[in-house]
Amino acid sequence: MSNKRYFFHGDQSENGDDTFYCRKCDTFSDEEHFKTHDEKTHSFQLNQSYEIFLRKPKKERCRPSDALNLLENMSHHKSQ
Ligand SMILES: [Zn+2]
Repeated sequence: MSNKRYFFHGDQSENGDDTFYCRKCDTFSDEEHFKTHDEKTHSFQLNQSYEIFLRKPKKERCRPSDALNLLENMSHHKSQ
C-alpha cells in the first residue's frame, strides 16, 4: 500500500493548476469556490485537517512541509 498524499483544507492540488482542496465538499476547486464558505467553516475544516493529520503515525503523514495552502496565509494575517 502506498501512502496517499494528505491534503489539508485549502491545500493546492499537485497538478500545479490553481485548484485547492475543499475538505467540506471533498473536491478540488478554484479560489472563488472558497468564498462560498464562511470563515468559521474554513477554520473548522483546517483545524480538523491538522488534528487528523497529527493523529496519524509519522510515516503516514504524507504532506510536504512546504505545501501551499490558500487559507493558512489568510489566517496568519488575520488580526482578529
Ligand atoms: Zn467547498
